[in-house]
Amino acid sequence: MNKWITLVVGAVLCVGCSAPFSQSKSPMTRPSFNADSAYSYVSAQVNFGPRMPDSKAHTECAVWLVQQLKRFGAEVTLQQGRMINYAGHEQQIYNIIASFVPQGSQEERILLAAHYDSRPWCDEEDEYSQRFQGVPGANDGASGVGVLLEIARQLGIKQANNEPFTPTDIVLFDCEDMGTPAFYTGQQRENTWCLGSQLWAREYAYGTEMPLDLKYRFGVLLDMVGAPDAVFPKEYYSVQFANDYVETIWRIAQRLGHGRYFSAALSYPITDDHYYVNTTTGIPMVDIIHYDARGNAGFASWWHTTEDDMRHIDRNTLQAVGEVVMSLL
Ligand SMILES: [Zn+2]
Repeated sequence: MNKWITLVVGAVLCVGCSAPFSQSKSPMTRPSFNADSAYSYVSAQVNFGPRMPDSKAHTECAVWLVQQLKRFGAEVTLQQGRMINYAGHEQQIYNIIASFVPQGSQEERILLAAHYDSRPWCDEEDEYSQRFQGVPGANDGASGVGVLLEIARQLGIKQANNEPFTPTDIVLFDCEDMGTPAFYTGQQRENTWCLGSQLWAREYAYGTEMPLDLKYRFGVLLDMVGAPDAVFPKEYYSVQFANDYVETIWRIAQRLGHGRYFSAALSYPITDDHYYVNTTTGIPMVDIIHYDARGNAGFASWWHTTEDDMRHIDRNTLQAVGEVVMSLL
């Protein structure tokens, strides 16, 4: 993802509909979520190597993700398309969509998403020679996907036991992190980040491929959700487009005892996959993202460097995020 460096001017718009969930602040029942399992899914992705678009590791990881999601009982579809990348070339995109819809359910769905690609360049490295290798992407990519795979496993168990849950689609976006590298001197293009979600959102809003009855109540995006010192502020666009859901999610985090991760601070606008979902489809989508304005770049020191590896993944953080998201289903 990319941070908007422009200063935010003007008031934050709040979406004015009724609160979607209970307002209670009392402790709530802890949902099933296994952090060891989520951790192993993060590690398995990192073990493929950097999942840069068009690489062998990217393809192998995509195949593995589809296998896992099918094994958990999801109906999996691959959305393919082409987008223009930072260099003006056509970029092949493969979004992975896993659907869990309990039989007979007419409810609107919840959309959960993360990106499974990793950035092709460590362009935040001080050392010039290291900038041309792929980011290991343990946090930036694999952490969100790891949490969602464990959620998929839990939904599969519920589905098998005929336990109720909200119909849920898990979308693993491709090519989120291929935005113009810092060292690129060619023509600067707009909208070079989040190519997979741009494709998905455009297809949802204007395309003919998706079923007409595909309706979402809201969405949650996970990005960089594994660091031991993770701080998730209320991200600017999330507040602008999906404030009721931000409030609900942050309140659930408090009630589950995970308030140390979910900060009341408002962040800068962050160009992440949820931006395109919000602006193109109108589905209100919240980004849970590790951002800390006290840092130089606003992101952790390992961000877009060779250091974004398993040393910065903590089971407690995965557990906190997993429980909060599971509570919404
Ligand atoms: Zn990134």
